Amino acid sequence: MHRRTLLLAAAGAASGRIVSSIAAAPQPLQVVATFSILADMARQIGGSAVEVKSLVQVDGDAHTYQPRPSDLRSLQGAGLVVMNGLGMEGWMERLKQAAGTAGLVVTASAGVVPRALPGGVDPHAWQNPANGVIYARNIADGLARADQGRADFYRSQARDYETAIVETSTWIEQQMAVVPKEKRKILTSHDAFYYYGARYGIEFHGIEGIDTEAEPSAQQIAALVKLIRAEGIKAVFVENMTSPRLAQMIARETGAVLGPAVYSDALSGPAGPAPSYLRMFRHNTTLFAQAMLANG
Ligand SMILES: [Zn+2]
Repeated sequence: MHRRTLLLAAAGAASGRIVSSIAAAPQPLQVVATFSILADMARQIGGSAVEVKSLVQVDGDAHTYQPRPSDLRSLQGAGLVVMNGLGMEGWMERLKQAAGTAGLVVTASAGVVPRALPGGVDPHAWQNPANGVIYARNIADGLARADQGRADFYRSQARDYETAIVETSTWIEQQMAVVPKEKRKILTSHDAFYYYGARYGIEFHGIEGIDTEAEPSAQQIAALVKLIRAEGIKAVFVENMTSPRLAQMIARETGAVLGPAVYSDALSGPAGPAPSYLRMFRHNTTLFAQAMLANG
């Protein structure tokens, strides 16, 4: 918008030379990501060369998302579409078909080793930073293919970003090193942290399954309450994008303290505690490590 205004102003000034030099400046690549974590990765790598829109907003639930008419227009105007894959965005196939033409589509999780579950796979692969590096490379490849003139820029940005991801992972290891192995147990409202737990040796239990649509039965809740008591788990958390109701009930029942919101599938807004993928890890890890020290 800003550039167009400039162009019109320059045209109004009737200076052909200025118009052509401004018109030759490369336009930012329009990128559409399905949810905010992927949008942040695309922004970190694309920098000022891209304009990124997220279909699911911050604090939104990508599992149960209902696409809006404006999402069709976003897809139609996109030079690159970034999605997670692994069955996360069940609503995307129909949206892509309805949009007809969409730009190049990149699946950020391509190449990760997925956690197999009965009837599918666990889509939350980004919660392991080692997978985050794979995501960054896939997104950079997509940007480079969609905008070949800036391919070298995207690849170099991705290398810097990968370094920052690896540094964050080292920091997480340091935080977890002070938590005794037998205390590394956490209950969260939905089962989104398996990849993180597998990487850092933490046992996560989810009240809901990997999909927020599945409500647990009364028997499953009773079994969880029993487990929390037997294992002395005091660390109970709710993700920013899920309902706190069941976690509150289990915390009351077991005497565990419900921690502040942690971030699994969506970032916070810019003023919140998890405005980026890497800040999300810092926020969650600090809370998880503190809470696990209180486990019996
Ligand atoms: Zn999820």
